[in-house]
Amino acid sequence: MKYLLVTALVLVVFWLWRHNREAERNEAASSRSARPGSPSKGTEVTEVVACDVCHVHLPRSEALIGHKGIYCSDAHRRQAGG
Ligand SMILES: [Zn+2]
Repeated sequence: MKYLLVTALVLVVFWLWRHNREAERNEAASSRSARPGSPSKGTEVTEVVACDVCHVHLPRSEALIGHKGIYCSDAHRRQAGG
């Protein structure tokens, strides 16, 4: 019986949480559509670059910029001599 109560409580909390999230999302969507044409802020596009040695793709913020190119790691930068 105790477990049943706990389960019910968890379900209620989960439902309330979901309900709140949905309400927030609807609010955000309506406030967005209220201002048509305004550029969406916060959508910072992460530029993806490729390592010159192994051609693995990684965000520019995580890449190592060498003299000759862009690398995924210090090992590859040294390997390329840049
Ligand atoms: Zn690499």
